[in-house]
Amino acid sequence: MRTLAIETAEKIGEIVTLQGWVLARRDHGKIMFLDLRDRSGVVQMVGTKALGDARAEDVVEVTGLVKKRPDSMVNAKIPTGSVEVEIQAITVISKAHEMPFPIDTDGYEVNEEIRTKYRYLDLRRPRMARNIRIRSKVVGFIRNYLFDRDFVEIETPILTKTTPEGARDFLVPSRLQQGKFYALPQSPQQYKQMLMVAGMERYFQIARCFRDEDPRKDRAYGEFTQLDMELSFVTQNDILTLIEEMFTKLVGELFPEKHISQSPWPRLAHKDVMAKYGTDKPDLRKDKNDPNELAFSWTIDFPLFNEQKEDDFFFGSGGAKFAPSHHMFTAPHPEDIPLLDTDPMKVRGLQHDLVLNGFEVGGGSIRIHQADVQNKVFDLIGFSEAQKQEFAHMLTAFTYGVPPHGGIAPGIDRFLMTVLGEPSVREVMAFPTSSSGTTSVMEAPSPATADQLSELGIAVDAPKDARPADGDAVYAQIVAGLEEKKMAFENYEHAPVKTSEEAAAVRNTPLHEGAKALVLYADNKPVMVVVAGDRKLDMKAFKTLYKIKDLRMGTPEEVTAVTRVTIGAVPPFGHLFNIPLYMDASLRNNTHVSFNAGLHTRSIRMKAADYEVVAKPTVGEFSK
Ligand code: ASP
Repeated sequence: MRTLAIETAEKIGEIVTLQGWVLARRDHGKIMFLDLRDRSGVVQMVGTKALGDARAEDVVEVTGLVKKRPDSMVNAKIPTGSVEVEIQAITVISKAHEMPFPIDTDGYEVNEEIRTKYRYLDLRRPRMARNIRIRSKVVGFIRNYLFDRDFVEIETPILTKTTPEGARDFLVPSRLQQGKFYALPQSPQQYKQMLMVAGMERYFQIARCFRDEDPRKDRAYGEFTQLDMELSFVTQNDILTLIEEMFTKLVGELFPEKHISQSPWPRLAHKDVMAKYGTDKPDLRKDKNDPNELAFSWTIDFPLFNEQKEDDFFFGSGGAKFAPSHHMFTAPHPEDIPLLDTDPMKVRGLQHDLVLNGFEVGGGSIRIHQADVQNKVFDLIGFSEAQKQEFAHMLTAFTYGVPPHGGIAPGIDRFLMTVLGEPSVREVMAFPTSSSGTTSVMEAPSPATADQLSELGIAVDAPKDARPADGDAVYAQIVAGLEEKKMAFENYEHAPVKTSEEAAAVRNTPLHEGAKALVLYADNKPVMVVVAGDRKLDMKAFKTLYKIKDLRMGTPEEVTAVTRVTIGAVPPFGHLFNIPLYMDASLRNNTHVSFNAGLHTRSIRMKAADYEVVAKPTVGEFSK
């Protein structure tokens, strides 16, 4: 029977078995102190070193006697500080390597790419473990709160059609209908409105939303989570009141150390808030240095439209003058409906933004439920008849009896970031995508194999950002690298050469000494392969040796995109281009290697042993 660390405080005099990680080890002569960590907390254990060699982050099972610590040894900082466990037996269940970074700090000092690569270790750090656990509590609280008020939790599709909310869509190709694509939802907006037509009346979902936007500190790249809600037969005031009550209770229960600056939350008209603060998300904290102050407010009475700008990434933006301020389903203020015909920019929308400490943590609106008004809004934002057809399902649904409805979607990540005082939403997500767009641990996006692409009927162009050839720079880089390592080399300037034979002749070096570098795509990833000038790459042997499914030569464009040099002048150094390098063992028969160094007119000759030191190739037999 396992005892949790926290339970030891109540088990003085008992023999217990604990399982967990060694948090830290301190040696004092023959005695070792081990702190054990499990999901409940930490407890100190003590024993003789002879009992075993457990190290930090090893997973262990320990049997021992719980003893009260002498008063002078009590550690008031931890709940188990009045006891310690005298180890009788310890088993190391699983050894741990040295951590790639410290996990007992708050972690802000560690490079983000490394933290996301080893996210499962980063999550062991107390700050991150707390963030993820409190996130779960927040979501649990919200669920219960809404279930108690008659809400239904409903999942909506992830493979769907675009919901134009102003961002770029992620597309997913269809295999069964080649040439067609699903879009990942920017939000469940259209589905939740159709659930109102369905009569659900009160819907919510902890919804994942996908927007292909550039990352910012308050916005994760790719995906984020929001509490998506929709209600029928409500006024804007009903929605605002419900949310205000929910967050007030949530803060009181889960963040008792926090205080809300002003209740009821101020409701500020867009016009006024812009005039007074110059932003629609004012930071209304009374003391911005108080980490426990939460200043919630509402911004309402937004203009329904903004002037459409060139950089509005907006589906159907055509040549129209107006772009929706929230989204195209937001209802105009009833008093302003006549202005749709005369002065659309003056129309106020029934939009509400939830603001917390200067961050927009949610937005929503009362929706249009009249087909003619919706049609008018489509016209104003410049939809063609064809574009309107894309929304025919909404207009059709609205002909079957649609209740007046509205909703909101507070962002879970953004709320947590703000309440926890974290500098980025990534600090409250278990597996965030790094700011450069690479996913945690698994390093997506990754190339598809040729088979996958052909099943989908998709051809991939050479990367758009292909860099122009710059052989001079590559040459300079090679020379600088060799000089820095103090490696001897001979430098040749010669007439342009295209083949290994020509190069050997013009340099007057043996053909077998030439290091012929090729760029290939192995399962769609670029790799470099080097063989001796008198040999040929055996593609079949290479595939078998490295378990590659799909292997092909790079096109001249791809070679330049990867290496910045033109085909035929590629130097045999993968590390210069961040691609793996494979060397055929035949090159080891030489004392020296010679190669074109980025230019058709320049070669370098150096010791074969030195070459291997710099290039660090994986060596195998794959030539014929
Ligand atoms: N769909 C909106 C959003 O994601 C929220 C809403 O209008 O309910 O911002």
